[in-house]
Amino acid sequence: MITKRPAEHGVDSAIARQLESGFPWLRFRKELEPAYRDEHFERNRKFVRVTLIIGFLLSAAIFLLGRVAVPSVSTPLADGLRYGLLTPAFVVTIALSFLSGKRGLFRRVLLVTALIIALSHVALNLMLPAELRQLAFAGLPVVIVFVFFALGLFLQTALMVGLLMAAGYAAGAFLLGIPPGQLGYSVAILLATNVICAVGSYVLEHAMRLRYLESQLLEEMVEKDGLTGLYNRRAFDRYLESAWAIARRQRSPLTVMLADIDFFKAYNDHHGHQAGDECLRKVAGAVSRVARRPLDFVGRYGGEEFIVALFDVDLEAATDLAERLRNHVAGLRLPHRASKVAQTVTISVGVAVVNPAETARSLEGVIQLADQSLYAAKRQGRNQVVVEEAAEAMIQTGVFKSL
Ligand code: GH3
Ligand code: MG
Ligand code: MG
Repeated sequence: MITKRPAEHGVDSAIARQLESGFPWLRFRKELEPAYRDEHFERNRKFVRVTLIIGFLLSAAIFLLGRVAVPSVSTPLADGLRYGLLTPAFVVTIALSFLSGKRGLFRRVLLVTALIIALSHVALNLMLPAELRQLAFAGLPVVIVFVFFALGLFLQTALMVGLLMAAGYAAGAFLLGIPPGQLGYSVAILLATNVICAVGSYVLEHAMRLRYLESQLLEEMVEKDGLTGLYNRRAFDRYLESAWAIARRQRSPLTVMLADIDFFKAYNDHHGHQAGDECLRKVAGAVSRVARRPLDFVGRYGGEEFIVALFDVDLEAATDLAERLRNHVAGLRLPHRASKVAQTVTISVGVAVVNPAETARSLEGVIQLADQSLYAAKRQGRNQVVVEEAAEAMIQTGVFKSL
């Protein structure tokens, strides 16, 4: 099991905070719950399809068995309920489970189907002659178990359906004039089944939710840097591959910036490693401020080097944003007594702007170009921005080839 303390796993995120605070009511924070529900129903879709088919076949088989044993029980109302409502509900939900695009609809229909399964079995039982009704009553707790554990419903929903079933039975039995003693006993059995199922379902749902949070946190740990909370190099490589493909398809430019803290070794030597870590955190926060759109990316590329990728930003805008990035860091006014360019912490920024659809350069070549720009910025005195565009650089040097 993953530790619940963020200090130990080094990730500070909504997932980590949820894991730490727990979820005794089986509900995540607003920003996590919808994604969890989506994932839950998608994960269970096939399982629910199979259990619906099994449930349908079992219900039909037991019904037919009863028909063979006591042919006289057939009534038009019961047949209407079974063939006009219960069977279509099963069939429609099973069919919907095959349509991967209809997520919301599937979930709503599944809930209605659960209600139909629960209440129509109650009604079918109550329609039986008295002696058969008592015999067939044993099937109703089985239906409750089915609702709780076979349909992939959340505890809250399943409990609502299960309690409605008990209430429906009580109301129906009362209207039919079933003796109070017998009514009370039957309803008590239905309620007890609900309680036992609810306890089991709580344990199961809690374990499933915990597993979800832990796997999400693991993903974050693999892709995030523990010190700054930014994405790491591995995440950047994954990001760049997809951003590159999108930019190529849309024929839009892609900008990669490498920002490196000036004289950081001297900073550590002078102010201490702890202060160096704190400085990295603050610079990371400042760097993050330039990338605000959904497809933009900010990460820690290594040591005291940060990487920013911006989608659909041309040369002019890239230059402007890189200057802004440099100013954000300078604006922190973090004292740096060992720097040779300023009295505060500064960065040098190397920028590469490419249009993936128009360049022979590979995506590795773009980082190489940003790195060259950064090197130029350092060589020219640090605390500055150097921007290069892929096409020009190719003409100038001719050294970049697709790797
Ligand atoms: P330049 O201006 O040319 O970039 O010089 P520099 O001193 O910044 O560059 P150099 O590559 O020589 O030194 C980088 C330093 O960054 C060395 C290393 O101790 C420090 N560093 C790397 N990662 C961390 C970290 O996680 N925490 C701290 N405190 N320091 C780090
Ligand atoms: Mg440096
Ligand atoms: Mg460096």
